[in-house]
Amino acid sequence: MDKDELIERAKDPRYIRGIYNYCDRWCERCTYTFRCLNYAIGEEQIDDPEANDISNEKFWQQLSDVFEMTRELIQDTAAETGIDISAFDPDAVDREKDIESQADADLLSHISEKYYESVDEWFDRNAHLFDQKEDEMNRIRLISAKDNPEKEAAEIRDVIDIIKWYQYQIHVKIRRALESALHEEMEEDDFPRDSDGSAKVSLLGIDRSIDAWQVLASHFQETEDSIQPLVKLLGDLRRRAETRFPNARSFIRPGFDEEP
Ligand code: SF4
Repeated sequence: MDKDELIERAKDPRYIRGIYNYCDRWCERCTYTFRCLNYAIGEEQIDDPEANDISNEKFWQQLSDVFEMTRELIQDTAAETGIDISAFDPDAVDREKDIESQADADLLSHISEKYYESVDEWFDRNAHLFDQKEDEMNRIRLISAKDNPEKEAAEIRDVIDIIKWYQYQIHVKIRRALESALHEEMEEDDFPRDSDGSAKVSLLGIDRSIDAWQVLASHFQETEDSIQPLVKLLGDLRRRAETRFPNARSFIRPGFDEEP
């Protein structure tokens, strides 16, 4: 697909513009796949085994086409907005480095980092519990035709999937929110703030993770003491993120927060 074809496809009213900018990227669970151009393009590539094979020329050709298309789109946008991208600004590199270091040093970054590390440690420490649970469920299956442990197993699997899906994303989105906020300090405009949108995605991940941990704790009573510190950490992160980004919760994400 070339640039013109992409622009043409993006005009299709079936697609919600920019919906993929503030989603959680969990396409398997997304109810908007039909309205997402990003998803449609991804599916077309999945359907083509040659385009997914790193040893196939088609894979590299497609990657090269994507870079070329991105370059052309940036050039067009720069021309439309009167920005000269050929003019190298040496200060810009230093500014970017400075923004990255400030975001790195931010307490929100540290807390979200601590969270994803602690989640890995928790699963390493408690892996045996899942084996025990499986044995227990197999026993129930043998002794009772009436009790159905499948439902409990499905619920446990579901909350673990949720915790793992957001484990790193919470940090990534908080980082992006912090960096965007620093960029926005230098730009005076009335556009919706990327920092708020990114913080909202992180907050929603925190909400879902807290609920998931609580459900997990209800299935493994013996883990309650080890789960509570993680929930507390997330609660602390949520409170601080809401204070830092007071408009995040009211940010309107394309598609998800709009009337159908
Ligand atoms: S909007 Fe939905 S389908 Fe599109 S990238 Fe995000 S999660 Fe996937």
